[in-house]
Amino acid sequence: MEFTAPPDAKLIADELGKIFGLANFIPCGKADPTLEELKKGIDHELGRRTFVSFAVRAKRGDKNFPVSSQFINEEIGRFVQEKTGAKVNLDHPETTIHIELLENQIFYGFEKIQCLGGLPAGVSGKVMALLSGGIDSPVAAWRMMKRGCEVFFVHFHSAPFASAQSEDKALELAETLAQFQNGGTLISVPFGEIQRQIVAKTPEEYRVLLYRRMMLRIAEALAKKHQCQALVTGECLSQVASQTLSNLTSIEAVATIPVFRPLIGMDKVEVIHQAEKIGTFLISNKPHEDCCSFMIPKHPRTRSRPEDLERLESGLEIDSWVEKGVKESKIFELT
Ligand code: ATP
Ligand code: MG
Repeated sequence: MEFTAPPDAKLIADELGKIFGLANFIPCGKADPTLEELKKGIDHELGRRTFVSFAVRAKRGDKNFPVSSQFINEEIGRFVQEKTGAKVNLDHPETTIHIELLENQIFYGFEKIQCLGGLPAGVSGKVMALLSGGIDSPVAAWRMMKRGCEVFFVHFHSAPFASAQSEDKALELAETLAQFQNGGTLISVPFGEIQRQIVAKTPEEYRVLLYRRMMLRIAEALAKKHQCQALVTGECLSQVASQTLSNLTSIEAVATIPVFRPLIGMDKVEVIHQAEKIGTFLISNKPHEDCCSFMIPKHPRTRSRPEDLERLESGLEIDSWVEKGVKESKIFELT
């Protein structure tokens, strides 16, 4: 056979649909570099498709190809018209036949499949994403991957004070996300004891802010250990009490590396829509005990200043908690 039919678009899309940096692809058949062979290949494909309008778009990858692209457009256009009765429509064709003319072969395809776009995995450097079992943080991590970051994941769990369910969920989420960057690392940190001490030693209304500041400190120590240059969270402006402008500022004050919040300006419905598309929504939606719903205050502060939190932390053993958190963390390699 002097031509090879295009492969099944759906099969390839399942694989290529998870590769960042790829804008689109055309499943192509391959023919020997003559008009006759190209027509045979196209004819074979026409038997499997129906359309009422079409356009032919030929490109000469090899400028020495004996005939011009326009000649091919017209010649194949006439051929397809005769075979199918479909009309040429250059502005809004139902089907576009893409042809690429090379020295030794001709590629031809009938559909251009859109992919994720973005930048290839890892080209922008490494970041550490704080991954809860919730809906937002997986989407935030995914958006950083899309911009070429290699994302490490860190999860804080409250075992033994709450079930270890949140770790299982974080692992399942991280595994799903890892498919977009060909593997990865999840670091799981025991956080229950730190929470217990914050509960015992500080006013209830500040608890969540103090938890978050501790998470950022431990995440930053881990980020440095793994050469990550920034932290990523799923925070979204004013979505909950801990995410007001002043509280975000108070939380971030403990970080010495940038904290990225890719979802900051998104509505929840937009985030959910994205989570559904990347396959994390159903996992996030499973019930679990969030480490911060554990011992959560009834009336959390919606306004705070970093200096108030520093004052509350002055009696806490922050440095040794960070050290202990890093030391007791567990690493999962994702495939
Ligand atoms: P999410 O859906 O990501 O849990 P959320 O809207 O429920 O977000 P919070 O629970 O207030 O918001 O958490 C804000 C951010 O803090 C999360 O997006 C995540 O990046 C981080 N975070 C919260 N809890 C944890 C945790 N247990 N482990 C790791 N990161 C966490
Ligand atoms: Mg949450």
